[in-house]
Amino acid sequence: MHINNSMTGNDRQVNKPFKDITKTGKIRPWREKKVANVTYAELLQILEFKKSNNVKQCGEVLEFKPSDTGHLKLYRAWFCKSKLCPVCNWRRAMKQSYQSQRVVEEVLKEYPSSRWLFLTLTVKNVWSGQELNESLSYMTKAFNKLKQYKKVSKNLIGFMRATEITVNKENGSYNQHMHVLLCVSGTYFKNKENYISQDEWTNLWQRALQVEYKPVVNVKAIRPNKKKDSAITSAIKETAKYSVKSSDYLTDDLESNLKAVEDLERGLYAKRLISYGGALKTAHKRLNLDDNEDGDLIHTSDDEISETESKANSIIAIFNYEKQDYYLKNE
Ligand SMILES: [Zn+2]
Repeated sequence: MHINNSMTGNDRQVNKPFKDITKTGKIRPWREKKVANVTYAELLQILEFKKSNNVKQCGEVLEFKPSDTGHLKLYRAWFCKSKLCPVCNWRRAMKQSYQSQRVVEEVLKEYPSSRWLFLTLTVKNVWSGQELNESLSYMTKAFNKLKQYKKVSKNLIGFMRATEITVNKENGSYNQHMHVLLCVSGTYFKNKENYISQDEWTNLWQRALQVEYKPVVNVKAIRPNKKKDSAITSAIKETAKYSVKSSDYLTDDLESNLKAVEDLERGLYAKRLISYGGALKTAHKRLNLDDNEDGDLIHTSDDEISETESKANSIIAIFNYEKQDYYLKNE
């Protein structure tokens, strides 16, 4: 691609923002994610986080290769991998959604008569970053206890667990909960000795947490079939959602944004938000899928760049901070 430097500012051809359009004609939300990333980096700067400069450079330069089918494939870029970064979380969610589809398909091949449950486990809200950090560790421990209870473990084949944190905008508290996709053997639904009702799940979760209050627990059975049943797809999507939505800490209110970012940074520090267990963990390993939180955020699916494609001239888009959009690099 050759862009003439001598073209005047009036030439709209040159000044048109860069667009990355998918095979199905959708515009990838680079601009929107990068604009949110810049706001997030500015909050980190005000809070004097050392990483603010790194975060600001996330996804600044994007190098693509044109594919054989005409759309662009991301070839090189630098991502900050910060837990709250809107660019990185968008990449992670795509990757997680792709990986979990593959893992579930693989487990279904191995356990064709298995059944799937979607379990949501909550605890009461917390108010500070410190409390959030402790609560997240505590929840993970409690979950490890829960899965070992005999009634749970005897039918459990595997699981995929994702932690989500939401900010309550009315009172500034945080709600941390887990979405768990459970794979159980067909016997789970056989009789009372094997089946666990929502009340029982609630009691088991309360026991694992060792708390006085009744925690909110929700359980739903899902029925996958060979045609990628929408129920299991939507359960996969639930577990592949962003761990924290950027709209929760990028509101119109600077003061509450600063508090939320500070608390969430502290709360999520060194936390793993996605994990696999049992047959799902084995399948993830067998499929040779890389780490979905800290791994490669350039390739989010198996849409690899072929040998010939990699030899084509690159298309480079750079984020213009003044114009708040991506533009092609002048050659
Ligand atoms: Zn980032």
